[in-house]
Amino acid sequence: RYDVLIVGAGHGGAQAAIALRQRKFEGSIALIGDEPEPPYERPPLSKEYLAGDKPFDRILIRPPAFWAERDVTLLLGRKAVAVDPQAREVLLEDGARIGYGALIWAAGGAPRRLVCAGHDLAGVHAVRSRTDVDRMIAELPGTKRVVVIGGGYIGLEAAAVLTKLGKPVTVLEAQDRVLARVAGEPLSRFYEAEHRAQGVDLRTNVLVECIEERDGAATGVRLADGSVLAADMVIVGIGIVPAVEPLIAAGAQGGNGVDVDALCRTSLPDIYAIGDCAAHENVFAGGARIRLESVQNATDQATTVAKALTGAEEPYAAVPWFWSNQYDLRLQTVGLSAGHDQVALRGDPADRAFSLIYLRDSRVIALDCVNAVRDYVQGRALVLAGARIDPALLADAAVPLKSLLE
Ligand code: FAD
Repeated sequence: RYDVLIVGAGHGGAQAAIALRQRKFEGSIALIGDEPEPPYERPPLSKEYLAGDKPFDRILIRPPAFWAERDVTLLLGRKAVAVDPQAREVLLEDGARIGYGALIWAAGGAPRRLVCAGHDLAGVHAVRSRTDVDRMIAELPGTKRVVVIGGGYIGLEAAAVLTKLGKPVTVLEAQDRVLARVAGEPLSRFYEAEHRAQGVDLRTNVLVECIEERDGAATGVRLADGSVLAADMVIVGIGIVPAVEPLIAAGAQGGNGVDVDALCRTSLPDIYAIGDCAAHENVFAGGARIRLESVQNATDQATTVAKALTGAEEPYAAVPWFWSNQYDLRLQTVGLSAGHDQVALRGDPADRAFSLIYLRDSRVIALDCVNAVRDYVQGRALVLAGARIDPALLADAAVPLKSLLE
């Protein structure tokens, strides 16, 4: 039995243990993870790690010795398959039962798979874990053509890296623009143009019919119009399915993820959930119940739980932020742009440094900043304040954003 048992040794789980010890929590803590590695950062998987620019030991969240020094037990390579809230136990796949005082569920999500024929062929890859990316890296020397299915951040980042490595890359997006779920149209169009300028064959409004094969390995992607794109590597980046089945089976409320309140408590006693799998009411989404897939959210929710468990209950209200690196473009976002009714363009995309500032009901709700760190830093204050500012002033790059805040 552990006083705090954490399921999921990723960003949220690791940070929960770190924050508990920082807050002088003296009880026993164990971190269960189904991957073999100690906690590591996921963002580099589609960036520096895939590119070969950062070795694995540089993406560890803490050096391996840290966990023993802080008396955090790592139970790695072990999967939680059921939760018994009455007995206060977690059942592992290997049959072990582990008791808890409080349970923190930080299991993230599994990559969404294609449902069509060929989705599980050799040469078809998800980009979620180190194992996924090591498998891609091992195949790369023999790879002739890459097709990326899904024009979200992960697919586009992988496309950028593989293009830089000299591979011919096609990106297929089902919707009429890339990044449609997370960004405004001008940002989508900018990234589409950038990828094309770098040589990527980027196609929107494209539906995949199936993956074609020879001897169990992918040879191409067949589209709904009957055409076939040759590919010996197919990368699927179409989102995640939150890993919450054991909690839902135990009676926790939820659907798309597990529902949590402002202290990240699920509907089951002493069971918390954080990170990609936690459906919470977000202040910056106008109180709507959403899941956020970002390091910021996992880390800040971990801190919310660590505080709640050490007698400092403080509702989660952190401002969302995110980043994406593609080629020499550093995108930084702050706030949530979904539901905006106005966009101000600040700077010129042709200069490859600009910002989009999103408003709803005349208030600034989010910024997407491309190679524009100053806007990002100063714009954050506008989002936090929900500032009401004339879009024409926001669009005037000669006026510093910080001067617009009363
Ligand atoms: P995770 O970090 O995924 O950790 C969950 C862990 O739980 C995993 O190790 C999983 O294997 C394990 N697990 C699942 N089920 C069980 C079980 N039943 N038993 C035991 N263990 C289990 N975010 C950004 O902010 N910026 C970025 O640039 C960015 N880039 C990304 C690039 C890639 C390729 C990926 C995959 C993600 C990226 N993200 C980025 C998102 C970010 O990594 C996630 O939001 C973050 O990792 C979420 O943390 P988490 O703790 O909820 O889940």
